[in-house]
Amino acid sequence: SLSDKLQNVFKNLRSKGKLTESDVKTALKEVKMALLEADVSFKVVKQFIKSVQERAVGADVMNGLNPGQMVIKIVNEELVSLMGSEMKEIALKPGNEITVIMMVGLQGAGKTTTTAKLAAKLKSKGRVPLLAACDVYRPAAIQQLQINGEKVGVEVFSMGDKQKPVNIAKAAIEHAKSHNMNVVFLDTAGRLHVDEDMMNELIEIKEAVQVDQTLLVVDAMTGQDAVNVSQMFNDKIGIDGVVLTKLDGDTRGGAALSIKATCGKPILYAGMGEKLSDLEQFYPERMASRILGMGDVMTLIEKAQANLDEAKAKEMEQKLKKASFGFDDYLESMNQMKNMGGISSVLSMMPGIGGSKMKDIEGMIDESALARTEAIILSMTPKERANPDILNPSRKKRIAAGAGVDISEVNRLVKQFEQSRKMMKQLPGMMGGKMGKRGKF
Ligand code: GDP
Ligand code: MG
Repeated sequence: SLSDKLQNVFKNLRSKGKLTESDVKTALKEVKMALLEADVSFKVVKQFIKSVQERAVGADVMNGLNPGQMVIKIVNEELVSLMGSEMKEIALKPGNEITVIMMVGLQGAGKTTTTAKLAAKLKSKGRVPLLAACDVYRPAAIQQLQINGEKVGVEVFSMGDKQKPVNIAKAAIEHAKSHNMNVVFLDTAGRLHVDEDMMNELIEIKEAVQVDQTLLVVDAMTGQDAVNVSQMFNDKIGIDGVVLTKLDGDTRGGAALSIKATCGKPILYAGMGEKLSDLEQFYPERMASRILGMGDVMTLIEKAQANLDEAKAKEMEQKLKKASFGFDDYLESMNQMKNMGGISSVLSMMPGIGGSKMKDIEGMIDESALARTEAIILSMTPKERANPDILNPSRKKRIAAGAGVDISEVNRLVKQFEQSRKMMKQLPGMMGGKMGKRGKF
């Protein structure tokens, strides 16, 4: 991986005051190769390297890092900002107002699948979606949407394949209005290549109905093509965000990096498989680590940054040993992990965690549920937080009411907490600021 290569380059260099031009040049040569190997567009790479160089030469080398690690730190930050955005999830209108989301993209990119995945996500958040079958060309496209809709328990609106897509879109929105639904997905038709007919049809829909969000679906495996397609769609019809599918099959991830830099629109979600639950929010931090392949280095960097407050960590380790680890500590450790680029990225560096076990844990600690978790914990009394064992049914009921959640969520959190406590006990080095020691430095 890139980090291994950089370790070699900088093997003999000790930590020193400032990054010299030659430190930076040597490191960036490897970074450049890695990015090109990841299928990042040449133009983006060139610009990127230039901006890192400008930032890095003369920068202070942080205590505990060698020059190579310091360059990686800067590279990582720049990668994240290249992919990052304020808009993390699709923007929905408040209350019962209807949000119309038009799904666009080439044939086979994953529009129909992603439509059902996203609808399921929104449904689980209390929205009432409707899927409109606007692909009247591809054989069995309507049926495919119906099957997917059924799987996730979301209604599908279809008028067969004899109507124009624009009329189906209009009728679907009317249907949603009269049935108290508040999100309408337009599953449009794609073509094998960007062509005039497809674009005109999409433009016609956009002119006839109020489309609130246009989401472009692109296939990560197509690499640079995905980047070009994003640019063309954005130029011709305007898009609000991108869903990058089939990231499960793409080991390089270059498209992810270039899309925002090229068309200026953020990637909002990542498709991670064919199952309708395989859709994740897109995290630039994770993608940057993945592209650079640098688990251990990041840990060192985080440590050097003292992002993880050592004193507090020691205190927590003591608490763990004395088994007095409570919900306040749980909340704090979750927040710390979030600051470190995501729970999964932290866990992936731990010995003995990986593969399917990793998936279990990720499912257990859903990062997007952190806010609800926080609400539940804050509804506990200090005594309850410190002594979770006293949580009996009547206390749980009161907490649920306070947090505005169902009691089953409180139960689930308590269970998760117990599992985490157990897990952390098995990993005594985890909280003690010793992370990275097993690395190669
Ligand atoms: P559409 O033509 O854009 O509507 O694309 P479909 O939704 O029909 O998807 C085309 C194929 O890609 C189907 O076989 C999907 O199961 C598959 N697919 C979609 N998203 C993903 C993904 O994230 N990962 C993988 N592995 N397959 C996907
Ligand atoms: Mg389709």
